[in-house]
Amino acid sequence: MNSYDVVVIGGGSAGLSAATALARSRRSVLVVDAGEPRNAPAAGAHNVLGHDGIAPTALLELGRKEATGYGAEIRTDRAVAARRTDTGFEVDLDETGRVRARRLILATGLADELPDLPGVREAWGRSVLHCPYCHGWEVRDRRIGVIGSSPMSGHQTLMFRQLSDDVTLFTHTMPAPEGEELDRLVARGVRIVPGIVSALRTEGDAVRAVVLDGGDEIEVDAAVVAPRFVARAELYEQLGGTVTETPVGSFVETGPMGQTAVPGVWAAGNTADLTAMVVSSAGSGVAAGAAVNADLVAEDAEAAVRERATP
Ligand SMILES: Cc1cc2nc3c(=O)[nH]c(=O)nc-3n(C[C@H](O)[C@H](O)[C@H](O)COP(=O)(O)OP(=O)(O)OC[C@H]3O[C@@H](n4cnc5c(N)ncnc54)[C@H](O)[C@@H]3O)c2cc1C
Repeated sequence: MNSYDVVVIGGGSAGLSAATALARSRRSVLVVDAGEPRNAPAAGAHNVLGHDGIAPTALLELGRKEATGYGAEIRTDRAVAARRTDTGFEVDLDETGRVRARRLILATGLADELPDLPGVREAWGRSVLHCPYCHGWEVRDRRIGVIGSSPMSGHQTLMFRQLSDDVTLFTHTMPAPEGEELDRLVARGVRIVPGIVSALRTEGDAVRAVVLDGGDEIEVDAAVVAPRFVARAELYEQLGGTVTETPVGSFVETGPMGQTAVPGVWAAGNTADLTAMVVSSAGSGVAAGAAVNADLVAEDAEAAVRERATP
């Protein structure tokens, strides 16, 4: 069984950044990555300083080269189980056996649970969007339809209104806007269409119209949805951790450097922060990598002191 100082589970921007920080500190580190980064459907990753618009897979390829250049090992595989041992952890991998680690970093990202409407999945990440910072510029001045399904849909509508004068809020399953929220939407010129949406009409990955129950269609160039964000936390739960539930999803709570409530386990990226974008995920990965290294430095120093004191 291979043993490492650190096993990082997940090789997106968070995991690869953690691995690079650790490898540069001369830690033995394995990244196990199933190869399904959350933004894979998008053509480009935006707000990525120095690489704005780069294809998501191309960015991770650069990250992999950097991490392996400093000695990190990367396996394309899936971690399916994790348990504590006397000296750290054991992780079972789907195809390549079992590995040991002194510390674990969970950088497994999150799953976007999309509204169950025909057309949403087909155009997700292309013309079905959720994040104004990721794709807003690309749909500026276009006809944008927001499909209301969450208490945050009114807020999301105003965020996209910043990008286009032509925004329609389909109230669908959200609580009907009222009071201050309604005043703001109306004052900002948002059209509000009540009723249940039955589908998005798409051509390939392009949304053409929102279809209402009853058959009426309203043409749009992009649709905005509010997925439920669910951190991939099965391994954390196996190790005794519990996720924190919020109205928009669930995540693994951490301290500022990524330390979780489970000793020896850190979390970074979307696993720990549902709102983290590519660069902030990378930032939390570096922080977790640095914190894990510091923790191991302290443990190694204590072991050396004990050894020196032994006659
Ligand atoms: C459609 C879309 C477009 C986006 N566009 C942008 C954008 O333009 N700019 C921006 O800054 N952000 C964007 N984001 C957000 C961005 O995707 C996230 O911020 C980023 O991917 C988070 O990085 P991460 O490393 O935490 O997770 P991920 O990138 O999702 O990486 C997690 C990795 O862990 C792997 N994994 C999961 N479980 C296991 C397991 N058990 N074993 C092994 N591997 C596992 C996954 O396969 C994946 O490769 C977008 C998101 C979406 C949904």
